Amino acid sequence: MASKRFAAVDKTICVACGACEKACPLGAIKVHKGCFAKVSEDKCVGCGKCEKVCPANSIIMKGRENI
Ligand code: SF4
Ligand code: SF4
Repeated sequence: MASKRFAAVDKTICVACGACEKACPLGAIKVHKGCFAKVSEDKCVGCGKCEKVCPANSIIMKGRENI
């Protein structure tokens, strides 16, 4: 069953540091072309670990209710 939450990146403020990529236990978030982080929503379980380590606060957790 899909999780209720998933991570979403505001790519306009992401500094592509890679901390979220290292923190994600599932490899669901990757820095895309060295520019910004991108989440694979189907892999993300909404644990929030990436959100906690992001120095730019560019990750927010979103609900899947409307999907
Ligand atoms: S919320 Fe958890 S599973 Fe989803 S991208 Fe962030 S660290 Fe990975
Ligand atoms: S931790 Fe934050 S700033 Fe760093 S790559 Fe991930 S989303 Fe971007």
